[in-house]
Amino acid sequence: MIDENSIVVMTALRAITIASELCERVRKDLTGQESIVKSDRSPVTVADYGSQAIICKLIKQKFPHDIIVAEEDSTELRKPSRSRILEKVTDYVNGFIQGSSAEISSWIDFSSHLIRDRFWTLDPIDGTKGFLRGDQYAIALALIENGIVRLGFMACPNLYVDRDQPNGKRGCLFFAIRGEGSFQMDRDGGRRKTLSVSRVENPSDASFTESVESDHTDHLLHQRLAQKLNITKPSLRMDSQAKYGIVARGEATFYLRAPAFSEPEYRENIWDHAAGSIIAEEAGGKVTDTLGKPLDFTCGIKMKKNHGVVVTNGILHDVVLKALKM
Ligand code: AMP
Ligand code: MG
Repeated sequence: MIDENSIVVMTALRAITIASELCERVRKDLTGQESIVKSDRSPVTVADYGSQAIICKLIKQKFPHDIIVAEEDSTELRKPSRSRILEKVTDYVNGFIQGSSAEISSWIDFSSHLIRDRFWTLDPIDGTKGFLRGDQYAIALALIENGIVRLGFMACPNLYVDRDQPNGKRGCLFFAIRGEGSFQMDRDGGRRKTLSVSRVENPSDASFTESVESDHTDHLLHQRLAQKLNITKPSLRMDSQAKYGIVARGEATFYLRAPAFSEPEYRENIWDHAAGSIIAEEAGGKVTDTLGKPLDFTCGIKMKKNHGVVVTNGILHDVVLKALKM
C-alpha cells in the first residue's frame, strides 16, 4: 500500500513542486521568444522542457528502473538552430538542479513512449496555450499499474486556492492515492484539505467546466446539453487538467469534453487525463468517455478506445451520458 508519507509520493510531490516553480519563473519572464512551433503547431516553451527535465531527473534519481512516458523529447531542442532555447532551458533548470545542456537533454529523454505494466505518465505543462495566455495550466504526473491509475499529482500554479475567493491566493497542488482519497494543498505543501465532489442532484442546479479552446472540444454540443438539462449557470472555461481539480473540489458539478466538431476522430493522450482522472475519482467523482466507457490507459500513448471524456460528481453521471445521446 502506498501512503501519503511514502517515498514515492514525497518524490513526486517534490518534483512537481520544483517544476511548477520553474514554470512560474519562465512565465514571469515570458517575452514570446521562448515558444517554438512544433509540427502540430502547439507552442512548446522553455518551461515544458525544463519541467520535464526536472521531473524525469528526480524520479529516475530515486527510482532508476521506473519508466516515464512523457509528452516531450529533446529532438527539436538538440538542433543547432535551437541552441538559444537549450541555453535558456539549462539556465532555468540550473536554478534548481545543476547539470550541463547535454545532461539536461538526456534527462528529458529519460522518457520513452513504450507502455509497460507499470509506468509513470507526465505532461510537463498541460494547457500550454493557457500558460502562454497567462491563464490556467497544470503539471500532471501519474503512476499507472496494469491499466489502473494508482497515484495522481497535479500542480496548478495559477489556480486560486479557495473557490470562494477567485481573486485570492494562487497555486494549488492536488494529489490522489487510489483507495485513500484526493487532496489539495497550497503550493508550498501547507493547508492540506481532503476533497469531495459536489452533492448536487438536480441537473438544473448543476454547473460545468469545459476547455477554453474550441479546437479541443465541442462547445456548441455542450451548450445544447446544458439547455436539455435546464442548466442556467454559464460554463466555466478553463485550460488544462485543472478542470478535474475543479470538479474534485466541488466547484463545478461536471466537466465535459466532447470531441471537437472539426476533429471527431481525435484520440486523447494518456498524460492529459491520467492524473486528473484519479483526482476526480478519489474525491467521489466518476470518469468515463462520452459513451460511458472507462478510460483505457493500456493502448499506448493515445486512448484509442475512448471518445472524449465526461467527469461528474457521480450522482449525475448517467443523466449527463443520457443527455449526450439524445
Ligand atoms: P485543454 O486545456 O483542456 O483544452 O486541453 C489541452 C490538451 O488538449 C493539450 O495538452 C493537447 O494534448 C490536447 N489536444 C490537442 N488537440 C486536441 C483536440 N483536437 N481535441 C482534444 N484535445 C486536444
Ligand atoms: Mg497536455
